Amino acid sequence: MNQRQEPISDLLDRLSEVVPDYPKPGISFKDLTPVFADAAGLKRIVDEVVAPFAGEFDVIAGLEARGFVLAAAGAYATGTGMVTVRKAGKLPRAVFTEEYLLEYGTAALELHTDDVAPGTRVLILDDVLATGGTVGSAVKLIERAGAHVAGVGVILELEELGGRKQLEPHHVHSLQLV
Ligand code: AMP
Repeated sequence: MNQRQEPISDLLDRLSEVVPDYPKPGISFKDLTPVFADAAGLKRIVDEVVAPFAGEFDVIAGLEARGFVLAAAGAYATGTGMVTVRKAGKLPRAVFTEEYLLEYGTAALELHTDDVAPGTRVLILDDVLATGGTVGSAVKLIERAGAHVAGVGVILELEELGGRKQLEPHHVHSLQLV
């Protein structure tokens, strides 16, 4: 007899950890590393985060660092390629750079200028969508390369921080609102 599949929200509640006041007081850090460490959990989140975009992308961009896990697994599962969007100073060749605002100060993400060809359809994956600043800068990098953002997939969306609004009109798919 087929067992009914556990709802994805229950799986995430069961396996993920919430760390209060990390990395600084007032932040409730959503730690998905235990989900990555669980064989069935990793497969479920990767399959479900890419599913709505099936057939709509040629390559998956992962955002350093937890987005790399999702993007590499998703690319392997869907027979597509994977590109790394990295923190400033990590990529060895010519890059596009986009700065974005953090709560205090700024940060920057980079993409090799030739990692995605013009016209490529790129799915962006990351673990958590908060204010949308991080994904928003990845969108700009991909567009500067002349590629097309096919959509954005995240595991958790911190709904009250408004990241989805920030990313309009792109298709944003999250597995759980928190
Ligand atoms: P943001 O640019 O505000 O959308 O922040 C998203 C990035 O910061 C993602 O790469 C997340 O991994 C990380 N992040 C932000 N807030 C949290 C949080 N509460 N728990 C875990 N990761 C977070």
